[in-house]
Amino acid sequence: APIGHLAMLDTSNVAITKTTCAYCGVGCGVAVKKERNTAAVIDVGGDVKHPANRGRLCIKGANLGRTLHDNERLLTPLVDGEATSYSHAYEQVAQRLQGVIDEHGRESVGFYLSGQLLTEDYYVANKFCKGFIGSPHLDTNSRLCMSSAVVAHQRAFGEDLVPGNYADLEQADLVILVGSNMSWTHPIVFQRLLKAKEANPQMQIVVLDPKRTATAQLVDLHLPLAPASDGYFFTGLLAYLAQTEALDQAYIDAHTQGFAQTLAAAQLATPDIESVARVCDLSPSLVAKVYSAFASTHKVVTVFSQGINQSNTGTDKASAIINCHLATGKIGREGACPFSITGQPNAMGGREVGGLATQIAAHRNYQSSHDKTTVETFWQAPNMVSNAGYKAVDLFDAVADGRIKAIWIMATNPVVSLPQADKVRQALLDCPLVIVSDSQGNTDTSKCADIVIPCRGWGEKDGTVTNSERMISRQRAFMDAPPGMQQDWQVVAEVAQHMGFGDAFDYTSSADVFREHAALSVVADDPDASPRLFNLGPLAEVTNQQYEDLQPVQWPVVADIEAACGWSGSPRLFTDQQFATTTGKAQFYEVTPAPASGSSCADFPLWLNTGRLRDQWHTMTRTGMVPQLSRHEPEPRLEIHPFDAKAYGLREQEFASISSAHGNYIARVHCTENLRQGQVFLPIHWSDQYASQARVSSLLPSVVDFHSGQPQYKQAPVKVAPLKVNWQACMVCVSNVNMRAHVIWHRQPIQNGWQWQLAGQGAIAWQDWLAQVLPEHDDTMRLQGSSGHGERIAAYLRGKLVAVLWVAKSMPPVDVELMQTLLATPKLNSRQRLLALAGQRGVGMQVDKLICSCLQITASQIDKAIATGSDSLASLKQSLGCGSGCGSCLGDVQAQLNKAIG
Ligand code: SF4
Repeated sequence: APIGHLAMLDTSNVAITKTTCAYCGVGCGVAVKKERNTAAVIDVGGDVKHPANRGRLCIKGANLGRTLHDNERLLTPLVDGEATSYSHAYEQVAQRLQGVIDEHGRESVGFYLSGQLLTEDYYVANKFCKGFIGSPHLDTNSRLCMSSAVVAHQRAFGEDLVPGNYADLEQADLVILVGSNMSWTHPIVFQRLLKAKEANPQMQIVVLDPKRTATAQLVDLHLPLAPASDGYFFTGLLAYLAQTEALDQAYIDAHTQGFAQTLAAAQLATPDIESVARVCDLSPSLVAKVYSAFASTHKVVTVFSQGINQSNTGTDKASAIINCHLATGKIGREGACPFSITGQPNAMGGREVGGLATQIAAHRNYQSSHDKTTVETFWQAPNMVSNAGYKAVDLFDAVADGRIKAIWIMATNPVVSLPQADKVRQALLDCPLVIVSDSQGNTDTSKCADIVIPCRGWGEKDGTVTNSERMISRQRAFMDAPPGMQQDWQVVAEVAQHMGFGDAFDYTSSADVFREHAALSVVADDPDASPRLFNLGPLAEVTNQQYEDLQPVQWPVVADIEAACGWSGSPRLFTDQQFATTTGKAQFYEVTPAPASGSSCADFPLWLNTGRLRDQWHTMTRTGMVPQLSRHEPEPRLEIHPFDAKAYGLREQEFASISSAHGNYIARVHCTENLRQGQVFLPIHWSDQYASQARVSSLLPSVVDFHSGQPQYKQAPVKVAPLKVNWQACMVCVSNVNMRAHVIWHRQPIQNGWQWQLAGQGAIAWQDWLAQVLPEHDDTMRLQGSSGHGERIAAYLRGKLVAVLWVAKSMPPVDVELMQTLLATPKLNSRQRLLALAGQRGVGMQVDKLICSCLQITASQIDKAIATGSDSLASLKQSLGCGSGCGSCLGDVQAQLNKAIG
């Protein structure tokens, strides 16, 4: 159905479903409008009533409607590569799991879950594994995202608790963003922040990041500190606060413990500003400026994200940040808190149910025998586990060395996302039983599976998610799932029934599961233990209708049921300065900062930093199919400082090979002074489904934080070298094709088909090559250039264009708009056939970078506007409109402006 035609419709015939965005941890509310009669989706937009986004969506959320019709989706379960029925697949999962348990024991089974799952899916899978299968080895991809923050919260507050909320960022006078490219990764929160700054120009926003990111382009102050030095920055801040008598001693005495040792350790590691400046490679005056602002401002929020967490010392870095807030009482008050912002839409929900191998469920711990018994009794679990299981990296190591013989992977793609990804793939290929259940059947991980079970995706599922500020929101189904396809929790319940555990999994709805999850949060609390703040008690009584109508609510939920089903919750924690520790006091944690693990050396002289792009999500299984999201960064690019590029013989737009001790990556070179010398940057998103060799995790070592097990994704030693190619080619095709291995390629979606860019060294007989690669065709038209490299071939089926290939010495420019039209035309006339071979309407066409996806504004249009007098963001917004849609491009526009006018 066409999206966005609401204006033409009779609105009385429109039904609205409120749901939540499928992507990041901001957790934006989405309103889906459907035509009542036809059930056709006609608009997917922001929910103006949702407190997280108040109607706004970033570019990814705004394109959710375009992900609803996936032509590559798997619609049938596969067992050993053969299509089968759902019931047979469930039976096979149950039988084979039982076989592995009988032969190798309960702990030979592992589960690997995902922050993409709904809380109800997570809850049922966790219960099944830890209470019924009897294996503690259930972990989640949230381990890769914020598990360091979880441990830091637990040791400071006694429980995994995020103290503040998004409004605190708006109310702060100083916001420090550490290791967070928020304008790309959490765009709607960042836009709330920019708007708050407009209203309060005194507000200062500071970014600590080795890279001059899009976020850094838009703030008051950017500190490009040395990679992995942020821990030193915050122990230095604590020492400075003591030195300048900026501590809140009354608060420390009344509400905390362990301060003296923590301060002593900080003073020893970083006694003064000069020592911090040295290790962070910053000027002392810059360090002093931020320290002084922190000391003198009461309302400070320090937001930290993957740049802190994805480190060998991520937990200590997070503790160093929390220490500074506790030492100054900047917590539990309006506009003041340390704030860990989560990456995934339901990372927090996974933490609630015990989706991490280090927790049981509902914030209950393995350390407490009372907690274990409580959950065992509540679940009536016959095979309750008693110890923590393997964390993500250990889990796949256990698969590799045979301790785990069966693994069930749900809604995630570890062959792309885990460090040493090639080793992970081999481990899965060698594992006796790999089960993958996913809404996307065509992933690098599903290719390693013995059993693949297609599951419902966004728009078809029903349940809840919890965002970064503890806000539980409903995800509601608004379209029918393909026949037979079920939601993840239903699949687990089916398998559980086949294994004889039917009574414990006889849920009839997501509401049933949610009520049980809420009830577990309050059942049989230990009167001698410290009070747990994770509390959904009143929600255990929701009726089906109340669950259906549930409004966003922040836990702890302690109001009565009516209030809980409205908007009432707990936006801010620790307002009474009572923490969830046994003493009720917050616990300082002694931090001795340390450098990153490993070091650059003669063999691998550069540090690789990794991160997200503006318009893509995770491994591109959804966003990768949307043409509008692929134009901003259409191919894997290596970012490198121009001096380093020169030193290693790399040139802009040419290819580079990037290698580490673990793997290889191929990317086009982009020189930028936004990086420090000695650093290179690669995006995390590409998989084997979208590029020939661009899984960044294959380069990364399995170095993890000792406490949290979170991998160090931000620093890996690599080397780079130029990769010479003799030809480059562009191809468009009406459908996806199996690209042959011996060329460098990546693909991106276009309207009515796909576009590939190809490159290689050896000569190729193109007509033979196409015959093997292309879908069915009965006619070709060929034009061969004189240079030996120029070659154009168009393929037709019954007169309809199915593909065109253009080969040249360098990448041939192609008018994609033209090709989209020609691919959609039923039969081409002779003029159109010539146009197809030409690939463009005229000569001298330039490929222009798209900057603003909403208004389709390109880099050259922005350059032109700057040249004719638009010299600020505001004037560019006014003259071109760029940045006035979803706002995700503001950082790029500002960067272009900075470059043009300094
Ligand atoms: Fe979705 Fe964007 Fe909101 Fe994140 S910020 S939840 S990706 S709309």
